[in-house]
Amino acid sequence: MCGIVGYAGERECTGILVNALEKLEYRGYDSAGIAIFEGDRIKTVKAKGKIREGLVQRLRMEAHFSAVSGIGHTRWATHGEPSDINSHPIGNGRVSIVHNGIIENYRRVKEFLTDKGYGFESETDTEAVAKLLDYNYNGDPLDTIIKTIADIEGAYALGIMFREHKNRIFAVRKESPLIVGKGNGEMFIASDVTAIIEHTKEYYLLEPGEIADITKDGVTFYDIHKNVIEKELSVVDWDISAAEKGGYAHFMLKEIHEQPEALKRTISPRIKDGMPDFSECGLTDEKLRAYRHIYFVGCGSAMHAGIVGKYVVESLARTPVIMDIASEFRYRSPLLSPDDLVVIISQSGETADTLAALKLSNEIGADTLAIVNVVGSSIAREAKMVMYTLAGPEISVCSTKAYMVQTAFMYLIAFRVAYARNMIDEQTCKKYISMLEGVPALVEHCLADQTQYQKVAARLMSTDSLLYIGRGLDYALSMEGSLKLKEISYIHSESYAAGELKHGTISLIEDGMPVIAVATQHNLYEKTASNVKEVKSRGATVIMVCSETLKSEMADIDYPIYLPVTDDILMPLVAVVPLQLIAYYTAALKNFDVDHPKNLAKSVTVE
Ligand code: GLU
Repeated sequence: MCGIVGYAGERECTGILVNALEKLEYRGYDSAGIAIFEGDRIKTVKAKGKIREGLVQRLRMEAHFSAVSGIGHTRWATHGEPSDINSHPIGNGRVSIVHNGIIENYRRVKEFLTDKGYGFESETDTEAVAKLLDYNYNGDPLDTIIKTIADIEGAYALGIMFREHKNRIFAVRKESPLIVGKGNGEMFIASDVTAIIEHTKEYYLLEPGEIADITKDGVTFYDIHKNVIEKELSVVDWDISAAEKGGYAHFMLKEIHEQPEALKRTISPRIKDGMPDFSECGLTDEKLRAYRHIYFVGCGSAMHAGIVGKYVVESLARTPVIMDIASEFRYRSPLLSPDDLVVIISQSGETADTLAALKLSNEIGADTLAIVNVVGSSIAREAKMVMYTLAGPEISVCSTKAYMVQTAFMYLIAFRVAYARNMIDEQTCKKYISMLEGVPALVEHCLADQTQYQKVAARLMSTDSLLYIGRGLDYALSMEGSLKLKEISYIHSESYAAGELKHGTISLIEDGMPVIAVATQHNLYEKTASNVKEVKSRGATVIMVCSETLKSEMADIDYPIYLPVTDDILMPLVAVVPLQLIAYYTAALKNFDVDHPKNLAKSVTVE
């Protein structure tokens, strides 16, 4: 959570910091602030609220700025309400910091410092680090930082400045991500590259425990023993247009439209001679035959992609799959063994619970495969094998294209496992692959006429609560549909296995309550149709997302939405598009800030 930026260069940096923060606002947006070197002091400006409404207004009230170095932060509060005083940067006149993460032992540190006479203004955990840096300060920033991080526990990425070391920025991290950007006569720090891509494509990935000492002329990296370390420069392989809205009203809408391309980019390098190919990560058929169990582990939409994966692998490969929510997996002492494969799914590659689940799996000795979008992220680096989803940057907090390509990966894995285990022959595997290659065109088709989704949205916008129902893969998908709607439109919804309704939940149905039924599986259609009849006869308004082959059956459906067909097993990749767009238009009609839903942030780097 939260975005950190920093700049050391020759240009006036206030605008640069604020622009960079705006690019990171998807990571957290309850308050924002900057600290800059002005004359011989550190000047801090910060405010509660979104950057434009809070920080920018406050900066306008200030006089002219002439600083050339500084740090900035956009916050997703964990400790202390969003308020001016709890906003970062935090410090005193001598040291100022921005922090991403949680300091777990902050209480003990605070007690220690209170005994030494320090007072605390904010309710944040971060202030304990700022004051500990001040307490440890001996004139040498590196000594001070090394001594301080030895005494703090938890997750952090820190940007640090000391008044006495003008125009020098320091950075250090553990768990939370941070990069150092290398420009021409200027240097940056940022939580991710989207913040600085308009200035440079070259960056260093800061590793846990490394300290960066940055001036406009360059960066020196140190380990915790103060030894200088050499690091390799990485280059971003996408350009700025990928991180801009490109004429769409919101990033979410843009990203929904990018799905056909994202699918092609993800699938095509993993197909050789018409077969799924994982040689890039060393996932051989021999291994796939030997695994005792396969686990899929993720959070939120990534977890939903894993549920689709479970259905598909089990039905095609007849191999047991355990799907787990990362935050549950890590604490329930899973029955994992070194003979198992754990597939870890995450867009950002920084999701704290998912990363912890991965570390646990590595400790137990299981094979681990990361399916992640962000290159070089912590999960990508910790896993024994990694395959990137190549969706390009996903800016909207509400995931769409990342879910799409994660789900596509589930199919590639399922096809290969089924083939390796002799559950399907080469010809069948190739047939599935060729159908998978046809999915981007079907997604295009679903994107063509959006008025049907807008009509549904107009109906949903005034409702307080609704249900999503489906069976089998349609149930897996309805979970994702329900999550999308909740996230951005703040309408309560639940997804239910259609067959479960009668066991309690149907009592909620009342006149006019919307029910979104997903029915793409021909063998289950009759069953779902009966459940639809049951809710309709109790007054529900039914929106049915179903295959166009079922059109003739839709006589009494209030809002039918027809999907182009492919093999039933692939339908989740198609049917998710209407569900995404229904959620999008509902939130947009309600005039909500679609890309920045309340209480949420993109990359969930705290537990
Ligand atoms: N724990 C810190 C706070 O609540 C940092 C949160 C963040 O990562 O934005 O202020």
